Amino acid sequence: MDMKGTLKTGLAGMMDMFLPRVCIVCGCRLLRHERHLCLGCHMDMPLTRFWERSHNPMADKFNEVIQDGIEAGRTHEPYAYAAALFLYHSEAGYRHIPYQIKYHGNIKAGEHFGSMLGKKLAVSPLWSDIDMIIPVPLHWTRQWKRGYNQAEVIARAAAEALGVPVRTDILMRKRRTKTQIKLDIKEKAQNVAGAFAVTEDARAIFRNGGTVRHIVLLDDVFTTGSTLGACFAALREVFPPSVRISVVTLGYVGGA
Ligand SMILES: [Zn+2]
Repeated sequence: MDMKGTLKTGLAGMMDMFLPRVCIVCGCRLLRHERHLCLGCHMDMPLTRFWERSHNPMADKFNEVIQDGIEAGRTHEPYAYAAALFLYHSEAGYRHIPYQIKYHGNIKAGEHFGSMLGKKLAVSPLWSDIDMIIPVPLHWTRQWKRGYNQAEVIARAAAEALGVPVRTDILMRKRRTKTQIKLDIKEKAQNVAGAFAVTEDARAIFRNGGTVRHIVLLDDVFTTGSTLGACFAALREVFPPSVRISVVTLGYVGGA
């Protein structure tokens, strides 16, 4: 172990004396070598393995969302890929992972699980041609208030594992939307419809002769797919169907 590693371990040990480090999922106290999850919760993590299959329940759900949003006349939308790191039901302990990252400023956990996600994608041929990862943007007022965009934190770690760039200059959130938690599927779709737009930079990619084959949209959690669907619709205004637009999240919320 190098000096930096020793120092980090030492500091983590010292922090334990003041603030016990606990497992995000079950709340038990972590051993010194454990990070974010105890060994048991790490071993039991309900990995989706969706990254290995082009057709999976998340992709089917997302393709339904984008088909619903396609206006008459655009009929040849290619099947979109979709993958999440882990699956959980709404009451399961694993929901604490995205919650910690989004609401408790646990950036380190975002980086940890983002990196884990990136490594899974990196070994699957389906995801070997990614040109860029675009995190779902927050409205600037919300990002200013929170201090960071949780999707961007996850995206940066995943992108590093994949060796691809993160682009935050392509997609913007035009207006603030209500928190989605208490809305039903239809209300969620209405809430985010038209909330996103592409920037001049996105158009410039083509003006400058750039080629793009595969864009990955990244968010923290996939529930109904309405937010990612709205982002997808905005990107399609600039990127033709020859550019694959896939979606990736940390969590996939399955029905209980
Ligand atoms: Zn645990």
